[in-house]
Amino acid sequence: MAISHRGHCARCYTDNSAFVYVAGVARPENSQMVERTLFFACNTCNSPRVVVGIFPHRWDPKNATGLLQNVPGIAIQKELPEPANNSAPPFTPDRIAGIFKQAVSSLENGNFDAAGAMTRKCLDIATKYVTNGDKRYENLWLKARIEQMTDDHLLTPELGVWAGIIREDGNSAVHDEVEFGKEEAQEMVDFTEVFLNYVFTIPGKIEDRAVTEKVKAQLSGLKAEVRALTEKIED
Ligand SMILES: [Zn+2]
Repeated sequence: MAISHRGHCARCYTDNSAFVYVAGVARPENSQMVERTLFFACNTCNSPRVVVGIFPHRWDPKNATGLLQNVPGIAIQKELPEPANNSAPPFTPDRIAGIFKQAVSSLENGNFDAAGAMTRKCLDIATKYVTNGDKRYENLWLKARIEQMTDDHLLTPELGVWAGIIREDGNSAVHDEVEFGKEEAQEMVDFTEVFLNYVFTIPGKIEDRAVTEKVKAQLSGLKAEVRALTEKIED
């Protein structure tokens, strides 16, 4: 028997998957503790998991049993692959960011239909948000809205082509029955992330910079005024 590990698998998305111990290397930390790098493989898909931590000197992964997280006195420092970051791209409005997070969590938990539905909802609200007030968009379905955005140069032609992954026929009842496989759900999440980056993050960063430049200009104008006033007073 050897030590085993449990956790979410980033490749097969099995939640709480068992990882079997394969090998390990050690480096003394001090007289009592050892830094160990342990290599595990997912019991479901064989994908690797590496854990680096500080362990009591006498502890040996080959002879230990049970779960790694229950070993007394250990401090795990790093795990690879790192846990997925499900936060939305910067500058995404809160409500849209919240839906994106749910889409990513659904994908990670293997709920591919839910991930597909949530990305669809996220894109639906984001496209309405961006085109708000433009009457030409009001009666368009999501896919047509994205195509119109591409025609209006609100999106790059590449993003417009990629939007072809969105399946719909204008009948909302059918949307609810569309089934997503792992790859389709992943592609929808990837597309949505790039979309949010394009419509919110890039403009947000540019605006941030423009504001900074404006503030800088105002500050230097104020400084010049203060200087001029000071000189006047000194005169
Ligand atoms: Zn796996």
